[in-house]
Amino acid sequence: MEKKIYSLRTNVGYFYNRPIGYSRSFHQEYDEIFIQPDLNLRDLIVDYTFSRTREGLLLQAQLSTHMEAQCARCLTPFYANIKSEFEELYTFPERFQQETDDETIPEDGYIDLGVLFRDYLLIELPMNSVCKPDCKGICIECGQLLNEGDCEHTDSRIIFD
Ligand SMILES: [Zn+2]
Ligand SMILES: [Zn+2]
Repeated sequence: MEKKIYSLRTNVGYFYNRPIGYSRSFHQEYDEIFIQPDLNLRDLIVDYTFSRTREGLLLQAQLSTHMEAQCARCLTPFYANIKSEFEELYTFPERFQQETDDETIPEDGYIDLGVLFRDYLLIELPMNSVCKPDCKGICIECGQLLNEGDCEHTDSRIIFD
């Protein structure tokens, strides 16, 4: 299937000339979206607000999506339900020269939200995500997908509760 790639780069350059406290909210929905280099998402719903602060821009975002992941038991790809809510402060490059943990607004005024969303969504994916609660995993002897049927190695199988 062809991957749908949308750019999540957004221009925030116009905020430079806005008064402190000015904000704009955005709502976007994507049935399917690929975020480079490796993230496949379905039903992505994005709500975010940029607010002009003294130092720069405050981004407040809420994400909800189904993210492609690999089942920890049967190693089959599936879509995990992921939600994320976060804030990120972007400082204007020329005003604060000292080292901070904050992101700096790029010179061209474009912020790539895809990079940011990917980071926050990956944090939310549990380490041992499974495709379904009763996933039977794979046979360690022959690799049989036990959700699809049994093999002859019933005794050497790892039993999941
Ligand atoms: Zn599984
Ligand atoms: Zn087997």
